[in-house]
This record gives sequence, C-alpha cells and structure tokens, in this order.
Amino acid sequence: MFVAPPSSWLLLPSGDGPPQRCRFRVRTPEGVAFATGVFPSAGSVDTYELGSEDLESPPYAAFGPLQTDSIEVPGGTVQVAVSPGELSVPRAALLGWVGGAARAVASFYGRLPVPRVLVLVFAGGRGGVGGGVTMGNGRASIRVRVGRGAGERDLEGDWMLTHEMVHLALPNLDYRHRWLEEGIATYVEPIARARMGSLAAEEGWRGFVEGMPQGLPAEGDRGLDRTHTWGRTYWGGALFCLLADVAIRERTKGERSLDDALKGVLAAGGSISGRWSLGRTLDTGDRAVGAPVLRELYARLGSRPASADLDGLWKRLGLVVRAGRVEFDEAAPLAGLRRAITRGPTPRP
Ligand SMILES: [Zn+2]
Repeated sequence: MFVAPPSSWLLLPSGDGPPQRCRFRVRTPEGVAFATGVFPSAGSVDTYELGSEDLESPPYAAFGPLQTDSIEVPGGTVQVAVSPGELSVPRAALLGWVGGAARAVASFYGRLPVPRVLVLVFAGGRGGVGGGVTMGNGRASIRVRVGRGAGERDLEGDWMLTHEMVHLALPNLDYRHRWLEEGIATYVEPIARARMGSLAAEEGWRGFVEGMPQGLPAEGDRGLDRTHTWGRTYWGGALFCLLADVAIRERTKGERSLDDALKGVLAAGGSISGRWSLGRTLDTGDRAVGAPVLRELYARLGSRPASADLDGLWKRLGLVVRAGRVEFDEAAPLAGLRRAITRGPTPRP
C-alpha cells in the first residue's frame, strides 16, 4: 500500500491567487484500490473535490490492494480501508470495532460529526492498536495501526479510535491551542464510551482521577497556550473541559452542559474539515449554553499557570479512591451532576 496525500501527486498552481475549487478524478488498474478522506463530488464515486487552500495539508489517501468497506452511522458514512498485512482478528471484529467507535461519537454528538470519514487501517506488524492520527483540512481521515498482537478483547477495550473520532467534531485550531483539541478528545472519549455501556462509569472516572493531576501546571508553566508539554496538552485540556462541564451544569442548574457547547460548535458548521479561531470556537460554544463559561475559563487558564483544587472537586463529585479503585459517594453535593455526565442527556420535552 502506498500512502500519499493528494498534495504529493497533484500539481498546484503557484502564486497568491484567490482560493479555488479543485476537482480531480482517480482511476486505478484492476486490483489496485484508491481510498481518500477527500469527499467525492456530489453524485460521483471517482471524482473528488476540495478547496485549493486545503491542498497544503490535505487528508490521507492510499493506493494498493486495499480491502474497503462502508459503515453507515447516523449522520454519515465511515469508509474503512485496510492495508494488506497479517491480523489476529477476523474482519467482522475489525469492522465492529470501527463501527462501535463511530456510533459512540455519533451518539454523543447526535450524529457522525462529518458526512464521510476515511479510516485507514495499517494492518500487521508487531504490537496492538496504536499510532492514531486524524487529519482534516477540507475533509476527514483517520489512520490507525492494528498489529498482529491485537486480539478481539483489545479492540473491544480500545479507546484510541474513539478519541480520534472525537477530533472530527472540532475545527482545526492554531497550534498554540492544541490543548483544546486534545483536551476535548481526552475528556469526551471515556464519557462517550460510558454512555454506550462499553466502559464502566467507575473506570471512566478512575481514568480522570489518575490522569487529571498530570494536567496541572508545573514550575515554569506559562498557561495552556504557551506550555506545550504532553501533560498540559492532553490532561490540561481535559481538565479545562471537566471544569467547564461542571461550571456549565452548576450555572444552568443542570439544564445545559459541555455537550451543548460542543454540539453548538458542530451545528454552526465547525468540524475537522475546517479551520476556526479559538475565539470563534469558544464564543459559539458559550452561545449554545447561554453563559460565557468557556470564555471566562480561558481568561483564567489560557496564559497563566492557574491551578485547580482537584481533591476538593473529587470530593464534591463523590469520587472516593480505595485501593486503586474509584467508588461513588452518592451523598456528595455534586453526585447527581456526576451521574448526569456519564448517563448523558435525558430527552427534553
Ligand atoms: Zn488526539
């Protein structure tokens, strides 16, 4: 299999002309399939379309003896392309894994965040599931490796593909705001899986209790926008989301949540296939919620090493750690709020 984004085999007009629509058609010889995250033109199967501005960093594309499948999920189609390579799991299990991740994310957001996404599976080699990366810019594609070491149980317990699919629901942001991209993916992934019943709520919260301290500022920290360590990017961003979720739920007396802010961004057209400023993203989320929680939190955490009282928060949420396990204290003041996070929204009349 050859993996090469369209920018590596398409000629691109030089100069600073206005952005244009680009359309290209791909035909391959017998036995060679073509798969790409670029959306096809309306009504076509071999003609693809994207903006010239997206050609700088377009989604993945691959040529080769690929095995392809389509999975329909509410709101869109997941195209799966698997490279040649030895796997320890049957094809049905592989497709079940991709479909499960897509349905968890579609259920959280109300639909698949993009009408079409390519999941390119690099099959074979040593190890299990790894190396997930999501690329947008004018469409959507995810690549992920599934090694010989991955069994069916590993696919059932996998978090990585769900994490990658959460990325589909947020526009590309500037590099300095990557903490919000990774933070949302880190925060929403276990919640989406818990709501589907594929992860126990206790396990999801145990992950947060263990992980969130890595998102606190260390010495020399200059705020989320200016401290690009792994801990601050993934867990610092996830902590931002948790604090926002709790604040929105408290401020709206449980009427609104971070779900609504994130769905509001998606409803306004924000997804991985586009690029937004952070300000537009936060304001759109705040408008959907009816309170400037995201803006206020960003003012506090964006460029300053502001800490958070995690132990106090766990106590209020009713999370008790005993011998490496999390138990729930249902008498805690925010126990109901905690239950609502992993249970999901109840339909409004
Ligand atoms: Zn990520």
